Amino acid sequence: MPASIYRGRYAPSPTGRLHLGNARTALLAWLDARAAGGALVMRIEDVDHQRSRADLEARLLTDLRWLGLDWDEGPDVGGSFGPYRQSEREDHYAAALTRLETYQCSCSRRELREEAHAADGEEPVYRGTCREGPHHPERPLAIRWRTPPGVVTVDDRLCGPQVQDVAHEVGDFLLRRRDQAWAYQLAVVVDDAEMAITDVVRGADLLLSTPRQVLLQRALGWPTPRYAHVPLILGPDGAKLSKRHGAPDLSALREGGARPERVVALLARSLGLVDARVEVIAARDLIAGFELARIRPVAVDWRVLADAARS
Ligand code: GLU
Repeated sequence: MPASIYRGRYAPSPTGRLHLGNARTALLAWLDARAAGGALVMRIEDVDHQRSRADLEARLLTDLRWLGLDWDEGPDVGGSFGPYRQSEREDHYAAALTRLETYQCSCSRRELREEAHAADGEEPVYRGTCREGPHHPERPLAIRWRTPPGVVTVDDRLCGPQVQDVAHEVGDFLLRRRDQAWAYQLAVVVDDAEMAITDVVRGADLLLSTPRQVLLQRALGWPTPRYAHVPLILGPDGAKLSKRHGAPDLSALREGGARPERVVALLARSLGLVDARVEVIAARDLIAGFELARIRPVAVDWRVLADAARS
């Protein structure tokens, strides 16, 4: 692949500290870009004004650099595809919205869940309640896309073909929320296209969002990037690894005096990229011969990092 063709990105939301799962995904996005001789874009996904914080953005960039990662474009280094913060790109989302067939919706999340008898946290299929006009026009209104019918197939580099009938399985999804925040699905599609992203490497929790994004790309006349959804780190109980499992976040490790090469070594071991005996390795030493298709998740004991922070 010619070097100039690969443009990858890492797109964190500054709504919390980076945990080891985020760090592993960032490492893989960076390795895939670097092994391809490509460019990596750092994009801050702060469309959610209420939850995003500037201090968390600064912290996560510091943590990622500490780990040994770098990027060619981003809010702190500039670049010709900026701005690189979603909060500074709202006019781009508004422009895309005018090109889509949409309608206003007054349904609250709670009403939708009750209507669908969905459990807490479960996103029910939208059944088109406000398609002919909002039921409660006096409320703050969200904007939904009249999702076109048909089956979408996306061939994921790691997970294989993903088939979804979006109109049927998801329904008309949100492009703008009732609190007027732009929806992730629209923002990510606009930004990936306008930043000329060719390769998306991100966590497997977003696999099910991809057909929605591909449908939007098609409606807007934009190309579809290659996708690779990488495995999340799970705790011993099978749930997504978190503080509760005794795994420290990246800032805690950095501030506790851990060596980044120890953290990288454990992340690399957990992916089967290095031998189980490798305890210290720099991120850049993983680039040569890196192949995303060869990652094989291996269980490791993340608690050893708590000691690494003190050693
Ligand atoms: N901002 C999203 C997150 O932090 C990632 C979005 C993406 O990679 O498409 O989970």
